[in-house]
Parts: sequence; C-alpha cells; structure tokens
Amino acid sequence: MARQQYYSNYGSYGRRNRVKPQTYIVFTLVAFLLVVGSFVFNIFQQVNSLSVATVEPSSLNFEPITTVNSWHNKEAKFVYLTFDDGPSQNAEKILDILDSYDIKGTFFVLGSSIDRYSGSKDILKRMADTGHYIGMHSMTHDYSTLYGEENAAQNFAGEMLEEQALLKEITGGFESELCRAPYGTGGGTFTDAHVEELNKIGVKCWDWDVDSLDWESGASVDSIMKNIEYCMNLWNYPRQTVVLFHEKDVTVEVLPKVIQYYTDLGYEFLPYNPDNHIVKNLFGSDDL
Ligand SMILES: [Zn+2]
Repeated sequence: MARQQYYSNYGSYGRRNRVKPQTYIVFTLVAFLLVVGSFVFNIFQQVNSLSVATVEPSSLNFEPITTVNSWHNKEAKFVYLTFDDGPSQNAEKILDILDSYDIKGTFFVLGSSIDRYSGSKDILKRMADTGHYIGMHSMTHDYSTLYGEENAAQNFAGEMLEEQALLKEITGGFESELCRAPYGTGGGTFTDAHVEELNKIGVKCWDWDVDSLDWESGASVDSIMKNIEYCMNLWNYPRQTVVLFHEKDVTVEVLPKVIQYYTDLGYEFLPYNPDNHIVKNLFGSDDL
C-alpha cells in the first residue's frame, strides 16, 4: 500500500512536471533571441565607442607643444619666423609663400605702417583669419619717444596699448599679447622700467636668436643664408629659435630657401602662441 502510494505519488509528480515539446521550442527561441540580442547590443556599443575617433581634431586636448620633447622619434625643434615693420606691399607675397607651405608666421606690425599702406586692413584680417600671429611693434618706432624721454617706459607701454586696440578694431577681435621693441631690448636703451610697464599691461616682449640682416643695404639671398647659418651654429641650434626678418624684397626672395633650410634640420614651424609662451629676449628678463 505504501509502495503503491509512493509510485502513485511519483507518477502524479512525473505527469505534473513533464515538459511538453512546444515548451522546449519556446525556451530555445527565447535563449536564442537573448544571445543574438546581447551580441547585437555589444556591436552597437562598440560602434558607439569607435565613433569617438570621428570627433573633430580641434576639440581634442593635446599636450602643450612646448612640453613635447620628441616627435616621430626625433627631437622636437621649433622655429618661429618673424617679420617686422609691416604691413607693406610685400606682406601679401610673404603670406602667399608661407601659406603655400602651410606655415604660420608672426608679424610685428607698426601703427605708422598701417596708416601708410592702403592694403593694411585686408592683410591684417587675412593674418588673423588664417592663424598667423600679429605682434605689436609700436605706433611710431620713434627712438626718442620710446627710449629717450623721461617717460619713455610709459610712452612705450602706451603705444603698445594704442596699437593693441587698433589691431583689435581692424581684425574684429584679435587681441595681441606680444610686442617686439623697436631696435630690440638688448641695446641698452630698454630698461627695467619698460619691463615693469609691460608687465602692468600684460604684454610680453620678444627679440630673436637669429638676425637675418635682411634690412642691410646690399643684403642678398646668399648673405642672408650665411647669417642664418652662422647664428644657428653660434647658438648651437636652439630647440626653440626665433628668426628676425623685415618685409623687404630680398626677404620674399630668400624665404623658400629659409624654409627648406629649417625643414632639412628637422624644425617644425610655429606662430607665437600666448598659451605656450617662451622667454626670448636679449635684455635677460624672465618677466618678458
Ligand atoms: Zn623695427
């Protein structure tokens, strides 16, 4: 009786829990859909994360360029080509050459040249719009105003402020933060008071390592290349070097050779960048 009961119960248990074939099919289908679904979901996730690579390069953050010591397994070296006393009729030719190599320059322009040359405003807008840097070289370039008079340092800073506002108006917003002292800071006329006044208005000041001497009468393509090679050798090929030019006819002529020279030495060309300021003055100040 007990055994019968047992079998009976067992039988009953077995019948209640017997799985029908249709249920197997449903389970298999559900499992199949789950596996396929998670697989497809995973692929979507991967595609989404891959799409990060299509973000505009300008929106990505890079290490400041001055802290980069090597590039494609080579020592990183940078050259800043700078052009003083413009804008002049040669500025457009210089820009055309630089643009043809996709190189950006730094132009230290004069208030008096902006007044004198009728194409100045268009040239300055082109410089600002295409990533070249416009530095300030004073309004007058006048020796006694900037260095000779009692308030020379205040005059100096005042001219830079005046030019800063002029450039901002012409370019529609470009605010220059760098000047080049007429005649340079190393000649004994630039003083601590000049440094102090420039610090007050938040303007830095650059000289150069290499004077191309393109402004000398009788300067030629050969003489300029010799000057550049001489200075580079003298300073032992600085990792960051600033080259001084003016907007002369011979400057336009020599420029492709200069670009080839620095390219062969492995230099990258940069415009001034206030976010990666480097100290480059003959006065010997760390505050400029
Ligand atoms: Zn000058």
